[in-house]
Amino acid sequence: MNIALIAHDSKKELMVQFCIAYCGVLSKHNLCATGTTGKMVAEATGLSVQRYLSGSQGGDQQISARISCNEIDLLLFFRDPISAKPHEPNEANLMRLCDVHNIPVATNIATAEALIHALERGDLDWRDIVNPSAPM
Ligand code: PGA
Repeated sequence: MNIALIAHDSKKELMVQFCIAYCGVLSKHNLCATGTTGKMVAEATGLSVQRYLSGSQGGDQQISARISCNEIDLLLFFRDPISAKPHEPNEANLMRLCDVHNIPVATNIATAEALIHALERGDLDWRDIVNPSAPM
């Protein structure tokens, strides 16, 4: 499955710790991420992460485009719920597209853990059945 990772600055360390903790399961899937998030995760875990631009430079829109093409199966987007971001409208669109395409999405670590356990158990494999054309 194709998993996209995005973390706002105040949540990047949490994303790194999450990816270290679940490195085993994540290594069985294709990872992509916005620029800095991807760099930090790749350096900390040794996982291979396809990196897009930084969120502020349009990386979230690159991930949105892949979601629109049904090329993303799971989005882990650790958001900072306190401070406003200049590219917030893009992020709202990203979340909208997840709903349009029924993409499982976690915006905090509690949901991310629930989804990663579901992924481990194979509970998300229905996406391959419903959407067989999507790259694995
Ligand atoms: P970044 O982008 O991973 O390049 O920092 C995410 C964000 O919008 O903060």
